[in-house]
Amino acid sequence: MDYLKGLNEAQFEAVTTLEGPLMVLAGAGSGKTRVLTMRIAHLITNLVDPFNILALTFTNKAAKEMKVRIAKVVGDSEARSLWMGTFHSVFARILRSEAHYLGFPSNFTIYDSQDSLNVIRKVLKELNIDADLYKPKKVQARISNYKNNLITVKAYFNNPELIEADERANMKQIGVIYQKYVEVCFRNGAMDFDDLLLKTNELLTRFPEVLAKYQDRFRYILVDEYQDTNHSQYLIVKALASKFENICVVGDDAQSIYSFRGANILNILNFKKDYADAKTVSLEQNYRSTQNIVNASNVVISKNVQQFKKNVFSENEEGEKIKVYRSLSDADEANFVASNIWEMHNSAQRKFTDFAILYRTNSQTRAFEDALRRKNIPYRVFGGLSFYQRKEVKDLIAYLRLLVNENDSEALTRIINYPARGIGETTQNKLIVFADSQNIPVTQVLDNLGFYAPRMSLNNGIITKLSDFWGMIKAFQVMLKTENVYSVTMEVAKRSGLIKFLKDDQTPEGISRLENVQELMNSMQGFLEEQIQLEDGDASLSNFLENIALSADTQTDKNEDGDQVSLMTIHLSKGLEFPIVHLVGLEENLFPSFMSSSTREEVEEERRLFYVALTRAEKQAFFTYAIQRFQWGKITDAEPSRFLSEVDAQYLEFINPAIESRFVNHSGITSNIFDDLPSEPRFYKKKEEKKTIQRNEPLEVPQNLKPVATARIINPSGNSSQDIEVGDKV
Ligand code: ATP
Ligand code: MG
Repeated sequence: MDYLKGLNEAQFEAVTTLEGPLMVLAGAGSGKTRVLTMRIAHLITNLVDPFNILALTFTNKAAKEMKVRIAKVVGDSEARSLWMGTFHSVFARILRSEAHYLGFPSNFTIYDSQDSLNVIRKVLKELNIDADLYKPKKVQARISNYKNNLITVKAYFNNPELIEADERANMKQIGVIYQKYVEVCFRNGAMDFDDLLLKTNELLTRFPEVLAKYQDRFRYILVDEYQDTNHSQYLIVKALASKFENICVVGDDAQSIYSFRGANILNILNFKKDYADAKTVSLEQNYRSTQNIVNASNVVISKNVQQFKKNVFSENEEGEKIKVYRSLSDADEANFVASNIWEMHNSAQRKFTDFAILYRTNSQTRAFEDALRRKNIPYRVFGGLSFYQRKEVKDLIAYLRLLVNENDSEALTRIINYPARGIGETTQNKLIVFADSQNIPVTQVLDNLGFYAPRMSLNNGIITKLSDFWGMIKAFQVMLKTENVYSVTMEVAKRSGLIKFLKDDQTPEGISRLENVQELMNSMQGFLEEQIQLEDGDASLSNFLENIALSADTQTDKNEDGDQVSLMTIHLSKGLEFPIVHLVGLEENLFPSFMSSSTREEVEEERRLFYVALTRAEKQAFFTYAIQRFQWGKITDAEPSRFLSEVDAQYLEFINPAIESRFVNHSGITSNIFDDLPSEPRFYKKKEEKKTIQRNEPLEVPQNLKPVATARIINPSGNSSQDIEVGDKV
């Protein structure tokens, strides 16, 4: 039992308490996830069948890592039988086997948030509702909110309070939209992400025999990041655990950062109410970070009124102070970070994987990607537009979805005329309107085209095109019965004309699109090999599609495991750790975000985000902010984030970068950067020579310069810009 040796007393207690309800509430880096992992290993060592253990994690990546650690203790085959994954992936799997209870096909499609947004847009159009008044994203958030609180369409219409609230918010049509949206999804045989939880709840409440089956199956339930479970998830866990009450949850209220998605800190409080004899363990020692980092993050989080007081300390080295870099622009900020990484990589022999760049919003990545590329530093962007969200990849996947689930009209509309095959919008609209009037999926119309065509006044040319297209899809389906998914997909890519279409585009973008299709084929090959090795492997196309629908957080890309810098939003970084963290964009209106700084609750959530970000760092943290930033197509002045001033100055070291004094601003329009400069620019242009440079005007860059920074040239209208390298005399 070597694995127990490295635990401290409190951790040991949590790991070895195998029966009954248990809650571990503790600060960042105190070993909660480690406790959860070791507890699973300990359960298996104590002869609990891994089939009876369910472990729920926040990301697929976390689940994968835990499995690897557990396998080291109990062996591969035992670890493989564990049910471990995110709420969404575990319950998608259960819903698939039980779909018939709910009237869904077992091969239902999972709509990601982009798909569901498309459906909402169509619903608005069909209902003749102005999408300017009912912004699709807002509608989506509202529907999602209802679903996560288990408010079905029926429950909605039975609740005058909700209806009135929507009326007051000038959203009185939400109910009708919600209803239509649910109808369309059902007709398409599709579930969105929230459905995966909502329908699981429905399944467990409406069908006691199903509940009993899974209660018996999951005798031991463990949940990581419990503070970020929403109501729907809470109810699922509660229902499943109610028979044996062997439930262990670990979490940290100070890291609750998903309230905008319905996460509810109260679930932690409820735990003690739901299980009166629950044991609670608190962990106080942080093993991850230096004292300096732990103390700095404690100071900031203590500013929150809403919190359980916790004591978190570190016995690691004191460590260096957090270095703060004030940059002149977003490009300058990115350059500093890239140079810093480059230098530490060379001088301190750091691997690139040791570094993370964390930011508040996805749109901040571009500048960092540019700067890293310029220095040839390998990097990987997590989340955002993940590989599987890219258009060409989604296009090919849409064909595959249609093969698996014929009713998937979203997939159909995506590819019926892509690549172009003469089935234009008018024809498509005719099909949709007709199918709607008959209350059947469009594909059913296509199935019986001979019968329906006369009623839609389609001409013969169009009828031929439609039946050619549909015949092709049918042929793929037949092929799927005998061939493996890889060969079928290859055939689809070729015969649909997709590959030819992409090959014809010889621009760099076109080539990279083709490479992405190639990459999808590679990932399919990998999937096949993986499934063949598994005892209960499932190499079906629907399993492949399910894996990717749920893989938003584990972006499959080239060089997945290579030595590269990680770029991600703070939200995605939860639970992870990196030796060196750059926390960037520390400015008011960016972090805290402009959208979330009007109420105390909102600011407190942003502060928790800050706490999460800083506590990812093991050895060293860097803070950066810019005094001007290019946003919404304009240069805007920025102020340092309030969180910077909340960190006690004793933990910080302000670096006055040399680059700053050498920086030359070529903008003649909005900038007052020169007034801020601490010293005269040592560069080839002096303050007095500052001038406006027209967009395409050649710049006189003196010879023999080595690049030291990037300057931004803004065109006179102020709405576009160009970054150039400027330098110091060699
Ligand atoms: P977070 O709140 O960020 O999710 P956590 O509480 O889950 O953090 P872990 O990720 O489990 O913390 O642990 C943080 C780090 O400390 C890990 O690298 C882990 O291996 C290490 N660690 C935890 N407990 C011990 C221990 N008793 N001895 C040595 N290292 C430990
Ligand atoms: Mg953790």
